[in-house]
This record gives sequence, structure tokens and C-alpha cells, in this order.
Amino acid sequence: MQIKSQALSLGFDACGFAAAALVDDEAEARYDRWLEQGHNGCMQWAAGHRDLRRDPSLLLDGAKTVISLALNYYPAQFQPAETLRVAYYAYGRDYHEVMREKLSELSDFIEQITSCPTRPCVDSAPIRERYWAQQSGLGFIGRNDCLILPGKGSFFFLGEIVTTAQLPPDEPCTMTCGSCGKCIESCPSGALRENGAADASRCLSCLLIENHDEDLPSWVSEVIGNRVVGCDECQLCCPHNAHAVATTIDDFDPTEAVMTLTRERVEQMTGGEFKRTFAHSAILRLRYKTLLRNARLAVIDEKTCK
Ligand code: SF4
Ligand code: SF4
Repeated sequence: MQIKSQALSLGFDACGFAAAALVDDEAEARYDRWLEQGHNGCMQWAAGHRDLRRDPSLLLDGAKTVISLALNYYPAQFQPAETLRVAYYAYGRDYHEVMREKLSELSDFIEQITSCPTRPCVDSAPIRERYWAQQSGLGFIGRNDCLILPGKGSFFFLGEIVTTAQLPPDEPCTMTCGSCGKCIESCPSGALRENGAADASRCLSCLLIENHDEDLPSWVSEVIGNRVVGCDECQLCCPHNAHAVATTIDDFDPTEAVMTLTRERVEQMTGGEFKRTFAHSAILRLRYKTLLRNARLAVIDEKTCK
């Protein structure tokens, strides 16, 4: 299939198609329960646009297919132990920029060969990206709430292209975690449970990135370790990532600012310098005062783990 070959030649690691039907009842009910239990935590936005989240045809009139794409960001190089820890997703250039460029090239190609309109999405539209990735056969949603690509792991950014082109749907991925529960045991803050999506109100990753309050809940200081941007523990411990292969996308290599990030460095920065330093980084989303709060709370002597 021309579209899939083009996706691979643009650097995507996986590409799959799903019919742009309504999100199924079971997935909707799970999402409802997650919200009802308040497990979206500070991600209030997750409760909005429920109609668009369910129906891709509201994102693009006449949508027939959702194309899911995955981009590997597993690093080739890791932060030194003495630095404040940044989750791998934020090591290099902002993935929104990289993904948007690649999606838009692929969208142009699809429009050329099908004469059908497309809408690329990279966190830019309310769409259930892991659901669609599973439906289009890319992988399954693990107990750590991440999309796991069998044989490749979970360190992948996801993007979608909604199109009115009718493309042959792939088989949904039916794999599961089986009896494994390593991520539940490894989560430092008890955010994962056997039967349910992650509780964002307990998830360090969400709290460090999305919560901009002056103070975090007091228990955070006991489990933060040296993390200041996100948390990768439930992915690092996952057996599916044991053989993760480094990305070939240079844009995802760690920046100098990430490789030298210390509490002193953060404290010496001004707000303006923060903006310049992280202008093309996902770290910009934190805002300076949030990074400073996290850096002051972090316990520096922990080893960076891979
Ligand atoms: S990102 Fe960290 S805190 Fe959040 S669920 Fe995973 S291991 Fe737990
Ligand atoms: S660690 Fe085990 S339970 Fe958790 S996502 Fe990976 S395979 Fe699933």
C-alpha cells in the first residue's frame, strides 16, 4: 500500500488504518468511569469535547478512515546521573513540531493520490489516539496506559490523520498484558491499578507537567526522586521495552540543556532564558515556575536509570 510505504519512508515506525466509526461502547464506558472517579486529576481538558472524542466525523466532515502513526523516541544517549531527570519524550525537539511536519507531508501525499481531504492531528484535536492505534493494529493499551507496539515497546509518539478516503482497515490488535503487573508494582506513587486507566491525580508525570500550583501534595516529595519533567518508570520496567531500539530521528537526541540540567542551572535561569532555552522543547509546556518548583523538590542523589 502506497500510503504505508510513504509513511515508513518519512521515518514513521508504524502505520495502520481503522474505519472512522464511533468509539465503541466499552471504550466509552471505561472513559466515563475514569472521569467519574476523578482520575483525570489536573487534566480537566480530558472531560471536554466528549462528542468530538467519540466521533471522528466531527473532526472532518465525511471522515471514513483514521490513520494511526507511531514515531520511535527511545534515546540513543542518556542524561548523566548528576542531572535532574527528564522523561525521554522531552529529551529533544518538541515532538509536536516533528510529528506535525511528518504528518503534514504524509497528508499532502494522501490528498494527491486520493483527491480526498485530510486532517492531521498531534494533540491538536480531541481524538482517542491510543484507542485508534489499537483499532488500526499498531498495538495494545497496556496496564501502564501506554500504547505498546508488540516487539517494539512503548516509547513511541502517536499521531493521526483523519481522511474521507476509504482505506482498507487493519485488524485491531488483540494482545493484552496477560498476567504481568510489573508497572503496577514499579509505579512510585500508586497511580496504576489492576483494572483501570492510570489515576492522573496520583501520577507523578501528570503532577510534574500539568499541575502548576505553587505546591504539590506533600506526599510527592517522598516519591519524586530526581525527576523534574515526567516519569518513565512504568515504561522502563515493562518487558516490552527490554529490547527497545534507539530512534534514528536526530531531532529527538537530548539537547545540551537537558544533558546539563541541574538545580543550580534552573535556579540561575530567568523566565526569559527559560523560554529561549526551551523554545523548541516540550519542556516549555511546564512554564518556568513549575520547573523551578520541581527542581527545588527533587532529590538529587538518585541515579539516572535507563
Ligand atoms: S508515569 Fe510514573 S507515576 Fe505515572 S503511572 Fe507511570 S510510573 Fe506511575
Ligand atoms: S509492565 Fe507488564 S502489565 Fe505493565 S504494561 Fe508492561 S506488560 Fe503490561
